[in-house]
Amino acid sequence: MTSPAKQSRVTPRRAGPALVFGDRWEYDPAPETADPKLQERYDLFIDGRFVAPRSGKYFDSINPATGRKLAQIALAGRSEVDAAYRAANRAFGTWGKLPGRDRAKYLFRIARLLQDRAREFAVAETMDGGKPIRESRDFDLPMAAAHFFDHAGWADKLEYVVPGGRARPLGVVGQVIPWNFPLLMLAWKIAPALAAGNCVVLKPAETTSITCLKLAEILQDAGLPKGVVNFVTGGGEVGAAVMAHPLAAKVAFTGSTEVGKAIMRQLAGTGKRMTLELGGKAANIVFDDAPIDQAVEGIVNGIFFNQGHVCCAGSRLLVQESVADQVITRLKFRLRHLRVGDPLDKNTDVGAINSREQLAKIRSLVAAGVREGADLYQAPCRLPTQGYFFRPTLFTGVTASHRIAREEIFGPVLSVLTFRTVEEAIEKANNTPYGLSAGVWTDKGSRILKMSNALKAGVVWANTYNKFDPASPFGGYKESGFGREGGRQGLLDYLQTD
Ligand code: NAP
Ligand code: MG
Repeated sequence: MTSPAKQSRVTPRRAGPALVFGDRWEYDPAPETADPKLQERYDLFIDGRFVAPRSGKYFDSINPATGRKLAQIALAGRSEVDAAYRAANRAFGTWGKLPGRDRAKYLFRIARLLQDRAREFAVAETMDGGKPIRESRDFDLPMAAAHFFDHAGWADKLEYVVPGGRARPLGVVGQVIPWNFPLLMLAWKIAPALAAGNCVVLKPAETTSITCLKLAEILQDAGLPKGVVNFVTGGGEVGAAVMAHPLAAKVAFTGSTEVGKAIMRQLAGTGKRMTLELGGKAANIVFDDAPIDQAVEGIVNGIFFNQGHVCCAGSRLLVQESVADQVITRLKFRLRHLRVGDPLDKNTDVGAINSREQLAKIRSLVAAGVREGADLYQAPCRLPTQGYFFRPTLFTGVTASHRIAREEIFGPVLSVLTFRTVEEAIEKANNTPYGLSAGVWTDKGSRILKMSNALKAGVVWANTYNKFDPASPFGGYKESGFGREGGRQGLLDYLQTD
């Protein structure tokens, strides 16, 4: 994940007269110093204003790299979720009728303001969630802005979403998002909703609400009419209240399959439209004719990007038996050179685990892997003494029945399985209740086409991994959910068409 250009800037450590490179490069610290402009306390954002919770209750948002409190976040009650829906419903009376080109102007403004404050937002995202600054700076922020830009372009072209038909907004939509890409998931949710003429009530995840509330400042600066977007913060009960509110014409949820199923049960028979983006256990499949160095980089990016807190992470490596030893040797070498530590350091590859709870979950699944007989390899790096960190880990000797091959770990842990034939690769890749994404590494174009048809996954990457674009729809099969986000297909989920 470190570019060669970056490696050439590395300053070797001096020990006496000699330069000591040893097995590892030593880097000087390169801390990001921009001010994240955090407030001590964040209130709810309802009807265009920040309002204190009636209960007076706040909860702490923690910096997972230190374990210390960053800010206090308001805990919404039922009456505040209701106030947010009523504000959104009032706003819909005007917003839903606004010509598309006028809605587009607001979306453009939001995108531009986000770009203006990108560095500040990137630091806030990294401090609140633990991801490396390099990722929030180079991925989360540019992608979030790109989603607003892309949907600004769609707002006056909705007739092309359904050529020959009519497209109208649905009304108020309720949205709940997870903690792994807080600002980006928010952009994925609100940009298409607003482009289509809907109004929004959204709940961010409890551990990562800060960039959502900072975005509320941008919405105010952009002059977005009051009530068009409302943010209510809190835990699962607030999320459940957002999903179940009678004024929600549609709900959109991104999170775990378990909670997604609970929401489906809760809303059965209500007639609300629903899209669910849930978990995954993706196969990243390496054939013997693949460019191996490139594939190893793709495997590393596939599982260690964002500490593996990625729904589409390539968490199951399927490697053809004839090249398995070669791939595993190179992977172990690569793991030893990943820099784990301070997420604000620009050289860091793997940052902090998002929360104490998530760290405990990763530890318990890794312990299950060892108990069930898989072979553990962990990068021998020094972990920081404070905060929540986990070593980049890989398991070999994994079989399909092991928990680490079946359950989503949502951490920097790769399970390696082998195969001999194309048919066996397809069979093993599809042997999962999930179906969000997959990767295929091969030199043969015909094999790529065969695999992408055979794999039951919403996204199949060929000779690359974790590539995203606002114009490209993203979503799952089976227990990974239904509905698409991004592209024309994503807009369809926010429109009534006839
Ligand atoms: P989670 O526990 O399902 O939480 C997701 C969101 O739902 C959070 O805002 C959470 O609030 C809220 N929530 C919890 N219980 C709820 C309920 N009963 N009703 C309504 N909302 C409720 O998932 P997570 O552990 O935070 O996130 C990781 C999961 O998200 C993984 O399984 C991952 O694969 C999935 N994910 C999927 C995609 C995708 O596009 N398919 C993208 C990213 C993540 P609190 O956080 O405050 O508890
Ligand atoms: Mg936090």
